[in-house]
Amino acid sequence: MGPPGAGKGTQAKVIADHFGIPAISTGDIFRANVTHGTPLGKKAQEYMDAGEYVPDEVTNLMVRARIDEPDAEPGFLLDGYPRTLSQVEELDGMIRFTGHRLDAVVVLTVDADEIVERLLQRARVEGRADDTEDVVRRRQEVYVEQTEPLIEVYRGRGLVYEIDGMGAVEEVTKRIFDALDAVPQS
Ligand code: AMP
Repeated sequence: MGPPGAGKGTQAKVIADHFGIPAISTGDIFRANVTHGTPLGKKAQEYMDAGEYVPDEVTNLMVRARIDEPDAEPGFLLDGYPRTLSQVEELDGMIRFTGHRLDAVVVLTVDADEIVERLLQRARVEGRADDTEDVVRRRQEVYVEQTEPLIEVYRGRGLVYEIDGMGAVEEVTKRIFDALDAVPQS
């Protein structure tokens, strides 16, 4: 977890590679569907372009289908999900069903002004439709309103590993691996 621009996607891939599990990014799946003009992409696009969350029912069904795929059977890393309290409950139900459990919730903490700058930079490089300045700011607000409260929920379960997300990618990766070394093994 972490606000838009915190570096979740970059770190998710490195961690997932290390553990030999898929990194499941809801944002990437939505974007692929938008690119291919699928019905799911058509449902998601207007929300994404406005910086709003795609409705929970749509997102939950998509994640459920994805974690049912065989490559997720040994485990998986979720990037950008859950983002609402209702998604937390849905995820609990899904993994109870598949027999998985949550080992850790990695929260990347960053300086808000700096990440808006990072996102604007990414907009210039990647040309993402949801990286214009207004949308970038709206995405930060939506994160604070709808997603930040989840951190306390997971903290209450003893799952949160808060990591300083500022600095070079490799430094942040090292902090994450150091923290994950402390995760209890079952
Ligand atoms: P991301 O690449 O993770 O920043 O996601 C890009 C956009 O996809 C978000 O701004 C939302 O519009 C949508 N999205 C991604 N994950 C979720 C989610 N868990 N719930 C609702 N919308 C999502």
